[in-house]
Amino acid sequence: MEKTILNRFKALFERQKRDLVYSGKVMNEEFNLKPDDLADEVDLTSTENETGMRMRLRNREALFLKKIEEALARISKGTFGQCSSCEDEISMKRLEARPTATLCVDCKESQEQSERLHIDGHRYKSLGNKFQLG
Ligand SMILES: [Zn+2]
Repeated sequence: MEKTILNRFKALFERQKRDLVYSGKVMNEEFNLKPDDLADEVDLTSTENETGMRMRLRNREALFLKKIEEALARISKGTFGQCSSCEDEISMKRLEARPTATLCVDCKESQEQSERLHIDGHRYKSLGNKFQLG
């Protein structure tokens, strides 16, 4: 891949990483519960829901941050834009739509297909159990 394009992706990832770290910091500050928030049961419930929501959000951010860091590592190793399965080049169109992609379109499709088969197989199995029980 051309160095100018690589640098463009590198700048993009570094900006996304900075944004994530910054929003994480803001969230941690908000995360501290004030005693007033625990005044009655209704408040407690809404606080719990909110906490759960924030935790999920944080998990998703952490996952995204990990993907960005892996992408940056691939840039410095020189393997960025290469499919991790078949080692073909991932198309520019795909990388622009999903810069952290590690699989080319073909490999991604076959991965999704096998996941779908797995889900169908699972569904079939639970249907079978239900049938036996009924
Ligand atoms: Zn591939």
